[in-house]
Amino acid sequence: MESEREIAFVRKKFADYYANKEIEFPEKLEQREWGFGGWKDKIEARHFSFPNSKSLQEYFKNNAPLYASYSVAYYKEPEARPIDKKGWLGAELVFDLDSDHLNLPCIAKHGKNWVCEGCLSEVKRHTQRLIEDFLVPDFGIRREEIEVNFSGNRGYHVHVNNEKLNSLESYGRREILDYVSGTGLDFNRFFAKQGARLVGPEPTDWGWAGKVARYALKNDLSNILPRSIVSKPERLKALRKGIERGNWDAVRIPKKTDVWRAFVKDLGLRLGREVDKQVTGDVTKLIRAPDTLHGGSGLSAKRIDFKKLDEFDPMKDAIVFGEEEIEVKVSRTPKIKFGGKEYGPYRGEQVKVPEAFGIYLICKKAAKRL
Ligand SMILES: [Zn+2]
Repeated sequence: MESEREIAFVRKKFADYYANKEIEFPEKLEQREWGFGGWKDKIEARHFSFPNSKSLQEYFKNNAPLYASYSVAYYKEPEARPIDKKGWLGAELVFDLDSDHLNLPCIAKHGKNWVCEGCLSEVKRHTQRLIEDFLVPDFGIRREEIEVNFSGNRGYHVHVNNEKLNSLESYGRREILDYVSGTGLDFNRFFAKQGARLVGPEPTDWGWAGKVARYALKNDLSNILPRSIVSKPERLKALRKGIERGNWDAVRIPKKTDVWRAFVKDLGLRLGREVDKQVTGDVTKLIRAPDTLHGGSGLSAKRIDFKKLDEFDPMKDAIVFGEEEIEVKVSRTPKIKFGGKEYGPYRGEQVKVPEAFGIYLICKKAAKRL
């Protein structure tokens, strides 16, 4: 097989990593199902279970899986198959935020296989909004119940471990997802005309209404409002002053209804297409185990203290391999920022790069070892 050398090299590196790494495993480990993946698929085998962290650690040392995932669900018998024989006991609520879901214009430039700083900062912003604007204020989830980790590639996973939510079945989870993604957010629910005047939500209103007003006060509105307003600070100020009292008509905006309708439509968190949302609502889903390596990048799905999420830079902080140079032949890549340095774009050249970046390229299937 053509990539055999690459696979052997990456596996060896992963094995070295796991040989010295004590992994912090999830709560209720003995009730989780595990799945592992290889070069071809992120999950090639599932229905594994481990009675304690020692046995799991052994597994990592001996097998150095390229991908490791565990069930968001807890089961009576996690290794039983098929799934309905496992005895479902509950499941964490997990949100999977991926920059690929955000329909960002930069994807056209660098392609789906790659991320740029723009992708990563935008998906981080969504992650912060999910926690600060929804989970904590609207669902009353305590910060101690929330864990965030880098997905290992293009986004973040948010795990909520709350006794009440753990027993929610798919339907309830879908409702939560619909709420945070603003599915069915309706302009007419928030706005009304009083005579010719447009009256709308105030920042102190509960739920989505208050959010609509607060986002209008906080966000840069330059891409939705006409220049005649955005370029004049005093008009923008007057507009915002009006919104604070629910008067969305303090400044004349041409086609105001269309403008604010488009604004509301764009506020929901983008958690993926319909299909992905169903997967996220799936109570039997397997999710990347935090602090394990991602075989599609060689980066760690690192746990993050979310108070420090702001400073977290995955292309620096999730790197686990070293600086020692290796020589690779790179196929085609955009410009990539990695470990604080810029590389590429490459067009089929042979280069010497730090091992960590070489592994990144090999895992992306964009380079071969020389
Ligand atoms: Zn990008």
